[in-house]
Amino acid sequence: MKCSEFLALIDDLMDDAVSADVRAELQKHLSGCEHCEVTLSTTRKTIQIYRSHEIYDLPAGLRERLHTAIMARCKKGC
Ligand SMILES: [Zn+2]
Repeated sequence: MKCSEFLALIDDLMDDAVSADVRAELQKHLSGCEHCEVTLSTTRKTIQIYRSHEIYDLPAGLRERLHTAIMARCKKGC
């Protein structure tokens, strides 16, 4: 799995909408890719902050902004 494929699935992973097979692939990628591990934990924290403020609906465009930032970093780093 490439980083771009991982990042394409990160939303589904957050929503717990991935199959066991896909989850295993994602875990395999994570164990070998520090960049995506950091990305995942950053995304999780961001979502937790929103949820802790009882903002259950993420603001429009937040995911897109995260994606853009992540992909920009990924192009440099991996
Ligand atoms: Zn990666």
